[in-house]
Amino acid sequence: MSEFIKVEIDKSKCLGIEACGGCLKVCPVNIFDEKNDEPMIVQKEEDECTLCDLCIEACGPNAVTIHKLYEDY
Ligand code: SF4
Ligand code: SF4
Repeated sequence: MSEFIKVEIDKSKCLGIEACGGCLKVCPVNIFDEKNDEPMIVQKEEDECTLCDLCIEACGPNAVTIHKLYEDY
């Protein structure tokens, strides 16, 4: 599990990989993977997130949220 950053996808908003796949294409550190046409989070990589926000910008329906867990400390 991640310690500092949690990446979340709201599946009720996501358009799917075939129709969109934006998050998967833009993430420079491969936080996103694909399963059954849905993006999934590679949890062991979450702390590698650079907070570049490219996935958020790529996601038309605003399905991606980056939680900064370290701000809770
Ligand atoms: S903010 Fe950047 S590094 Fe983090 S999950 Fe999104 S695209 Fe990947
Ligand atoms: S960018 Fe958003 S809508 Fe597109 S596949 Fe990723 S989470 Fe789904």
